[in-house]
Amino acid sequence: MNTSNNTFRVVEQFVSINGEGQRAGQLALFVRFAGCNLNCEYCDTKWANEMDVSYKEYTIEELYQMIKESKVKNVTLTGGEPLIQPNIGKLLEKLGMDSDLRIEIETNGSVDIQPFLLQMQSDGELLSSVKKVAFDNVSFTLDYKTSVSGMEEQMHMTNYENIRMQDTVKFVVGSIKDLEKAKSIIENYHLVEKGCGIYLSPCFGKINPSEMVDFLVEHRLNDVNVQLQLHKFIWDPDKRGV
Ligand code: SF4
Repeated sequence: MNTSNNTFRVVEQFVSINGEGQRAGQLALFVRFAGCNLNCEYCDTKWANEMDVSYKEYTIEELYQMIKESKVKNVTLTGGEPLIQPNIGKLLEKLGMDSDLRIEIETNGSVDIQPFLLQMQSDGELLSSVKKVAFDNVSFTLDYKTSVSGMEEQMHMTNYENIRMQDTVKFVVGSIKDLEKAKSIIENYHLVEKGCGIYLSPCFGKINPSEMVDFLVEHRLNDVNVQLQLHKFIWDPDKRGV
């Protein structure tokens, strides 16, 4: 899968609704990049991580043009793992300067987000205040992979220190043990106080969502959301491109 450093490998792009997160239910353009550095047990996009997956190469300008032509404001960069794409920082710079767009990067929690935040901040200092505001339109949805994923040891823990108000932390849980781990991360990293979005999402078929609600009630977890992935209820859970 050789690729020029100036292009991005996109395995699919489509318009649908956000299935989860702070803009659940709203229209979004999804751009899915090839390749991931993890191998979660419940991964429903393993096909996108295969070495021989077919993809289309886009330059930053071509991607920007495709996004603008879609006429969709919410843009979700997903994968795979978007942050391992070469030059992803430059793409975020470009997209972050367009205040008509709301960019969400779905990242798996194993990659340090700090260099991207610093890049946005330092570039922002050089830009006009109007453009600085536009950088606020770039947010991270950061997974914490609990034990059900088999990838928990890969989590980059300083990410939960660096998370900002405009970002989201998502815990995919498959057991009470996973819920307890999520609770300890929320408390130890003061996520509620940081004001970021906090979501608990069930690993489909592994835990009954009612158990998650019971856990929230029992521990009085204010400001934490239980969220079911909408697209898994609207369409077949294995359906692609929705
Ligand atoms: S991080 Fe996401 S794309 Fe990568 S293996 Fe895990 S679920 Fe799949």
